[in-house]
Amino acid sequence: MCLICLEFEKQRMSVREAKLALGEMRTTIGRAHAREVEGLIARAEAEAEAAQTAPAAPAAPAAAPAAAPADEQDD
Ligand SMILES: [Zn+2]
Repeated sequence: MCLICLEFEKQRMSVREAKLALGEMRTTIGRAHAREVEGLIARAEAEAEAAQTAPAAPAAPAAAPAAAPADEQDD
């Protein structure tokens, strides 16, 4: 846990800012934690991208049938 994690988690730091901060603090926080922060940033980027490509649409199941066939229910 470092300044980047803290600020990023509180959303007080944008992806771009976090990347810049990571560049400056990489040696300070150590390589292992730098990798963790990179993962954090990558995840936030992917989420932001997904939010842009699919605006407000709930994730629908991929191969859901539109409607169940009714003709098999002759009882
Ligand atoms: Zn951290």
